[in-house]
Amino acid sequence: MRALSVLILWRMATSLAAVEPGAPELWARYRWGMMAVVVAGLLMLALIVVLLLERQRRRGAQRLNLAVLDSLPGAVAILDSNGAVLRASAPSAQREGLGALSTQRLVFPGRSYLQALQKLTHAGELETAGVASLLENVLSGRVEEGMVEFRGPRADTWFELRARRLELPGGGAVVTVVDATPRRRAELEARRARDERAHMERVAAVGELGASIAHELNQPLSAILTNAETALRLLHRTPADLPLLREVLEDIISDDKRAGEIIRRTRAMLKKDQAPFASHDFNELVRQVAQLASNDAQLRGATLTLHLADAPLPVKGDGVQLQQVVLNLIINALDAVGPCPPGERQVWVRTQRTDGRVELVVEDAGVGLSPEVQKRLFEPFFTTKPAGLGMGLSISRSILEVHQGRLQAEPRPGRGTVFRCSLPAA
Ligand code: ADP
Repeated sequence: MRALSVLILWRMATSLAAVEPGAPELWARYRWGMMAVVVAGLLMLALIVVLLLERQRRRGAQRLNLAVLDSLPGAVAILDSNGAVLRASAPSAQREGLGALSTQRLVFPGRSYLQALQKLTHAGELETAGVASLLENVLSGRVEEGMVEFRGPRADTWFELRARRLELPGGGAVVTVVDATPRRRAELEARRARDERAHMERVAAVGELGASIAHELNQPLSAILTNAETALRLLHRTPADLPLLREVLEDIISDDKRAGEIIRRTRAMLKKDQAPFASHDFNELVRQVAQLASNDAQLRGATLTLHLADAPLPVKGDGVQLQQVVLNLIINALDAVGPCPPGERQVWVRTQRTDGRVELVVEDAGVGLSPEVQKRLFEPFFTTKPAGLGMGLSISRSILEVHQGRLQAEPRPGRGTVFRCSLPAA
């Protein structure tokens, strides 16, 4: 293009130079034609200048785009509507955390982003299945944007991938991968610390029930002893009363099972490991805790009344942790009715289903909540009890948060307090 314009200009110059001043007719005859050639040449020149400027502007814009892309946190890639890489940010020191996932190996234009990612993570289809479906949904326009986390190539490394649809007629998406390992580790650490506190608090709560558990165990143990002595006496009789002997032995077995169940329940509450989320009947969880606490209530001269919903109340979660919440609320209610005169130490425990949620209401006719206590109730280490830890309610609330549940307290009309805890029904 440049050579052509030089040629045209040279032709124009030579033709103008060829017009001799002494040849006016020739000039008059070709004047318009020659002027047209000059104008055309000038236009061509202007066009070339414009094209050169435009090319420079585009290069500048491209450089700016790349600089912006490179300055973004994480590894950024722009994909076409088929999921092939159009452009990607360059690897840099900042992205070291991305290790093998640094864009260096994902940049090849035309390469399928997903396949490259799967190859790099070595984690197989399972780990990146979420990424595949997210990219598919974003590229097809079913969703505007989304985020998934997946495991990295090294042990205990995590990545967060965000994909957003490009607002262009041809579609496409912009994908960012950032190292989520530090956040994941911090979350894990926080969870470990919370579970540790929860376990401590559970041990303290079960410790409070120690006397009542011993009392509860004593009943089946003394029944076993009495029945065993009866069985021995029956054996010495002639003829031996076999049907009665069978009955006595059956009683021994059932008492032994009862004692075993008390120990099993207590051990489950003291267990340190976290159980994976599973389905439970909330009624059953509450019934077991109420049984564990009923002896304690009796020893304190309090009445614990249970009103369970007729139908099972399915919930999903860690059964032991949910029971810990129930136990905390019941022990607090029993503590609250302690100063009341005997006969007025009443605690009610109710379960019900409301609007797709499962609700537990623990109500007491105890000392109630002063405005100061009500304000600070859920604060860690807040306690008004001489031997209190002040962790029960704060831990109960965080257990419920993990289960997408809620816990709130309100004064009971007349006297006492109502604690309401609700969980999504499974
Ligand atoms: P702790 O029982 O060790 O004190 P909690 O976190 O379980 O710790 O309770 C914090 C405080 O909340 C209690 O010390 C008490 O003052 C108040 N509280 C809890 N439940 C009740 C209740 N049912 N009635 C009145 N006050 C309560």
